[in-house]
Amino acid sequence: MGDEDTAHPMRRRDWILSSAALPASAAALQTAAPKNIVIASANGLQSCAKAMEIIEGGGDTLDAIVAGVNIVEEDPNDTSVGYGGLPNELGVVELDASVMHGPTNRAGAVSALRNIKCPSKVAKLVLEQTDHVMLTGQGALDWAKLMGFKEEDLLTERSRLAWVAWKQSLRDREGNNNWTDGLDAPSKPAQKAEARLKELFPQFDDETIAWAMHMARFPTTGTINCLALNAKGEMSGTTTTSGLAWKIPGRVGDSPIIGAGLYVDQEVGAAGSTGRGEENIRVAGAHTIVENMRHGMSPKDACLDCLKRIVRNFKGDMEKLNRFDINFYALRKDGVYAGAALWSGRQRRDGGFTSPKFAVNDGGASRLEDCVPLLERRK
Ligand code: ASP
Repeated sequence: MGDEDTAHPMRRRDWILSSAALPASAAALQTAAPKNIVIASANGLQSCAKAMEIIEGGGDTLDAIVAGVNIVEEDPNDTSVGYGGLPNELGVVELDASVMHGPTNRAGAVSALRNIKCPSKVAKLVLEQTDHVMLTGQGALDWAKLMGFKEEDLLTERSRLAWVAWKQSLRDREGNNNWTDGLDAPSKPAQKAEARLKELFPQFDDETIAWAMHMARFPTTGTINCLALNAKGEMSGTTTTSGLAWKIPGRVGDSPIIGAGLYVDQEVGAAGSTGRGEENIRVAGAHTIVENMRHGMSPKDACLDCLKRIVRNFKGDMEKLNRFDINFYALRKDGVYAGAALWSGRQRRDGGFTSPKFAVNDGGASRLEDCVPLLERRK
């Protein structure tokens, strides 16, 4: 037997790959025909359309989705991704991104990257040009510059407004802060926080000031995740974000972590996440979902199972769970897909209620579909 193995070194491995490693359910998945489809978090309608255009034109799935999410990374009005993202506690925008390419089983990521508008492009170059998977912080920035990326200040005036609103809202236990009510601070006791901000940012209307005040109180999460499949059965995924607003400098969320914010195995499917990254990292969400699908779960059930793991990590403490949101997105190799959310929705600033959605494009115009919620949040 030893001789046989030496004479045919690949024989044993071939056997393992062709039969034993594939559970019956994954083998069954291989029979369904793939199709062109792109899904994304709800902020990805345009990204899905752009990616579909490239896929229909014969482009690679990774090129397609990175071009798609670049639209959101460059958009100053999306304050959760790329340029214009809400900054860390020092007012510096720090970006995380990851990419995975199914056909080559390769991954690339950057974390805590400053001053570069499109971190997904840098992550893609890490995949294409290096023997590494993730570059972080100053190293990632130096390498991006080596690759020809231009350094830019990513803090827009709108994001600076929200940062100042947050700074002004910080108080000690006695209710004092360094901005007002002190011995030397200008005495304007009657002046509301909104009016003080208006004085500093006269260019913004009341609605924008109210938005900034809201962001100060309820630091947002955002992010875009985008997953694609083409008719040849090739899959790719990307997740890109400015992360949690007002984070401690150097905090890295789930988005650049392969297996948490993103995972692709084109023999099975792809998954990604938006929302509170810390909870996703603790359940290795995207990898868990892909493995659930490998073992026969539908994309919807695979996502819901992952959300249940998060609930279990909090021992079902609804008060704590109520303090965050998290969504998962899954696309199986046969084109079946789902979005799922921990909560059925959240209260809007205007008192209304928003239900979680995700974007889909399977040809033609992109549309929003409902995420399946795990828990009902009271309206
Ligand atoms: N998941 C991202 C993070 O934790 C943020 C988000 O999606 O809202 O960095």
